[in-house]
Amino acid sequence: MSNNPPFSFNFNGLLKCTFALTMRCNLACDYCYIDKSDSVMSLSTAERIIQFIFDNARPSDTLDIGFFGGEPLLEFGLLKRIVELIMDHGSFNPEKARLSVTSNGTILNDEIVKYLSEKQISLCVSCDGPPAAQDRFRHFPNGEGTSTIVEKNLKRALEAMPFTSVNAVYSPETLRFLPETVSYFLSLGLRKIYLSPNISARWTQKEAALLSSVYSAVAEQYINANNSGRSAFISLIDSKISLLTQGGYKPAERCKMGKGEYAFGPSGNVYPCERLIGFDDGKTHCLGNIHSELSSNKMCQGVSSTSTNSECAECTLKDYCMNWCGCTNYYSTGRYSTVSAFTCSSEKAAIKTALDVIQKTQES
Ligand code: SF4
Ligand code: SF4
Repeated sequence: MSNNPPFSFNFNGLLKCTFALTMRCNLACDYCYIDKSDSVMSLSTAERIIQFIFDNARPSDTLDIGFFGGEPLLEFGLLKRIVELIMDHGSFNPEKARLSVTSNGTILNDEIVKYLSEKQISLCVSCDGPPAAQDRFRHFPNGEGTSTIVEKNLKRALEAMPFTSVNAVYSPETLRFLPETVSYFLSLGLRKIYLSPNISARWTQKEAALLSSVYSAVAEQYINANNSGRSAFISLIDSKISLLTQGGYKPAERCKMGKGEYAFGPSGNVYPCERLIGFDDGKTHCLGNIHSELSSNKMCQGVSSTSTNSECAECTLKDYCMNWCGCTNYYSTGRYSTVSAFTCSSEKAAIKTALDVIQKTQES
């Protein structure tokens, strides 16, 4: 029996829960924001989380369930057991559930790929691009780069799962590689490409001034790919085109930080976002622990990440801007609701790029 009564909160149709299976990782990426340790989620903790999910989701809610780490595939056996428990649950509806795993791509093998494919679990590989970008920050503890093995494993995954996605983090040092990164991914056959700035990096005015030209060059790749029949989703472009078309972010598309979005550390500690698990110390950003009485008030009050920057209130782009992303704001300014100058510049450049793409597409 659960010791946590169901919440009365309306999740706006989507409950997003992430299991951080372990804080272990076989890599030593320079920009890692996880405090790595040997901790691994116990099965009893996972069972409690599953109970929490099904106690609180309404039948009409879509479940977005992710596996994260550290490197979650180091605990592949545990992942399989949890998936089995979820899919065997009486309230599980495959039509209303999305399962995904985010991996560094270094330990993927045929058995794992076959399993993910059979269970229709989406795979997102963290890869920063061609060797010059990937090996710059993503390496093994001995300093050896990961590009060769990740490229091999991406090809392996794509054979069984054509919609395997990648998430590339770009930093001030690798921003200029971004068009080349997109070109590299397209040449591998990737069709779902997420591009994310390194939010804890020290971005300066110098890089901010480059954003428009770099994003425009990415847009050229995007248009060329679409024109040549190899259409690809590129988050930087497509997410803003959708927003411009639909008139801005809908409530369910914004970060829900504690109002329907929860990340669980291996200890069972609950956080408002997987990027805020950090040390899993049960203090910083923590909303409670799945093994204790969870306070509906605390869990559902969430973390206010609404921008408090005065210029946002009057900004004509505010409906299309990600100024509400609490973890981005936290890592770049130390506050959930304060937007950094770089985020503002990047959002402006991304929205303008998407508008240019729409215009060019309409003209052709
Ligand atoms: S793969 Fe992820 S968890 Fe592992 S070191 Fe790199 S950023 Fe950190
Ligand atoms: S573009 Fe800048 S000023 Fe405008 S809403 Fe976004 S963060 Fe605020």
